[in-house]
Amino acid sequence: MVISCWGSRVRNLLRMKPVVVFVLGGPGAGKGTQCNNIVKKYGYTHFSAGDLLRAERSKEGTQYGELIGNYIKEGKIVPVEITINLLKRAMDDTMAEDPTRNKFLIDGFPRNTDNLEGWNKIMKNNADVKFVLFFDCSNEICMERCLERGKDSGRTDDNIASLQKRIHTYMQSTKPIIELYAKEGKVRRIEGAKSVDEVFVDVQKIFDAENGIGNL
Ligand code: UDP
Ligand code: MG
Repeated sequence: MVISCWGSRVRNLLRMKPVVVFVLGGPGAGKGTQCNNIVKKYGYTHFSAGDLLRAERSKEGTQYGELIGNYIKEGKIVPVEITINLLKRAMDDTMAEDPTRNKFLIDGFPRNTDNLEGWNKIMKNNADVKFVLFFDCSNEICMERCLERGKDSGRTDDNIASLQKRIHTYMQSTKPIIELYAKEGKVRRIEGAKSVDEVFVDVQKIFDAENGIGNL
């Protein structure tokens, strides 16, 4: 009893405020690939909002499975109440297990004003958004990459019809969010139309500069 009480006190003392990097860019801009690289080098924990939604969709008897499936196929953005719960739970679970794991890459979120408002309502006071990593890549290249990926990704939205809708949603809804953060000086733009290794060189420059290493 005494030990468990102390255990939870120590855990609370150790608990640090989550530090978040949002990772945005069109479908196929390289978010997921580069996040995997960042995790290996900088020790972040990576959550893709899309992956969390796909996992939720695939669960047995889940309340929102069908809704999520339809939104994804249509390239529309799922209501934030669903997404924010999944993100919050994923972050809480990570920090409950290890309170020192407080650096998160949140990939593919916030995608529209509904997402941003949901974040601000639930998370703004509970997490610090350090910056937004923005992979800038032309729609043509994004389309090409996703169609290539679609050959074996098994994703219901890596086909021409869904991709056109996803790109439309990106241009209409997500770009303005990136612009909002840019006005706050929070966007770190990466040229995404290069090879994975070349892009990672640029990504490292940004993370090293943010960590106070290098002369950027
Ligand atoms: N999605 C969503 N809200 C989010 C993230 C994703 O509704 O916060 C849905 C949306 O329908 C999107 C799809 O999940 O088109 C796939 O997103 P993902 O990030 O996996 O695609 P990517 O941009 O990585 O290709
Ligand atoms: Mg992705």
